Amino acid sequence: MMPYEEALEIILSCCNTLSTEKVFLVEALGRVLAEDIVSDEDRPSFDNSAMDGYAVRWEDIQNASEENPVLLRLIGEVPAGGEDLPEVKSGTAVKIFTGAPIPRGADTVVPVEYTELKDSSVLVKASFKEGANIRRKGEELKAGEIVLSKGTILRHYEIGILASLNRVNVEVFRRPRVAILSTGDEIKDLREPITKPSQIRTSNNYTLLAGVLSAGGLPHHLGIASDDPEKLKSILSCIGEYDVFITTGGVSMGDKDYVKILASEVGIDVKFHKVRIKPAKPVLFGTYNKGLFFGIPGNSVSCATAFDLLVKPALLKLQGAKDHLPKTLKAKLKRDFCRRDAERREFVRAFYYWDDGLVCDYSQKLQSHMLTSYVGANCYMVVKEGVKEIKEGEQVQIILF
Ligand code: AMP
Ligand code: MG
Repeated sequence: MMPYEEALEIILSCCNTLSTEKVFLVEALGRVLAEDIVSDEDRPSFDNSAMDGYAVRWEDIQNASEENPVLLRLIGEVPAGGEDLPEVKSGTAVKIFTGAPIPRGADTVVPVEYTELKDSSVLVKASFKEGANIRRKGEELKAGEIVLSKGTILRHYEIGILASLNRVNVEVFRRPRVAILSTGDEIKDLREPITKPSQIRTSNNYTLLAGVLSAGGLPHHLGIASDDPEKLKSILSCIGEYDVFITTGGVSMGDKDYVKILASEVGIDVKFHKVRIKPAKPVLFGTYNKGLFFGIPGNSVSCATAFDLLVKPALLKLQGAKDHLPKTLKAKLKRDFCRRDAERREFVRAFYYWDDGLVCDYSQKLQSHMLTSYVGANCYMVVKEGVKEIKEGEQVQIILF
């Protein structure tokens, strides 16, 4: 059976970066930048005050203290956005506000907390380093510097950075169109009545829909197909309309598991079926034209795990993301873990936290139909092939959600 790394490598090698489009910067949230963003000016673009206080000449206040305060004559004030700047000469000070330009002659700002107003003068009661509390022109960015590089996933921070650079529209990679189809006679969609005890409500459709959205994709909900090969085949024959096609269920060894056979019949080039992982072992992957096909097993945890570990990296790579691989860390195991069968690499829903170092505890609900094992979880604990037991205090690899 194929190891996880090899399966992921095959998938990623089939991901050709999608085309790009220009979008309004707010719509770029969660998308991947398709251009380098260069600053066209220094930032800050002028020296300005980091505090509310008084702009002074350092030589005047270098020896100021509570016992020996220095009296400076106030000659004006500069608000943020101020333009008419008085010149600060020896023995004088200018009242200044955060973000306001530093007036000529001043080289230091004394915060208001260390001063006292005396009529039209100010008493400075502490000394500061020369240049204190001034934000220097260009100290954050230099004109011509690359601020955000192509392949960056845009979060709200980057959206703010783009706005600060007056980038109204930005070039991002197109969102992959992703079809989502569940299979199974027993599966019912939202609001459909459950009329027999053997029927179950779908979670997979919506786990995937939300997962695709959160990975920057455009989900297309194709609903639920019964285990009828003719009907299934006719739905699968529209794969060409999508960049990615995901099915859940019907990919294991049961008599009604038609996905593998039908995938080949509709022209999917199957690259692998079954990966040495737990859960989601029977996962199938193939390609068609420029599209990717994922046949994910139906168990709800298998579905979510396969999405996180195999589908999401592909969606991010299609969108040109530099950081498309799952993020890993090491943590100390909180309590013993053991299992009977160590053939596959297991991904256990777990929770990591800080307690004088990273600690990882795992969910009590280990089976692949127990979707509530994700409640409160924030990572997978990785149990490598061949490992039957991990003792409390040993290091484990974790994969962050
Ligand atoms: P299968 O992979 O078709 O053999 O299904 C494995 C298990 O997953 C069965 O118990 C199914 O009832 C369940 N299952 C299949 N599809 C879904 C779905 N869309 N939502 C939740 N559970 C499902
Ligand atoms: Mg089924």
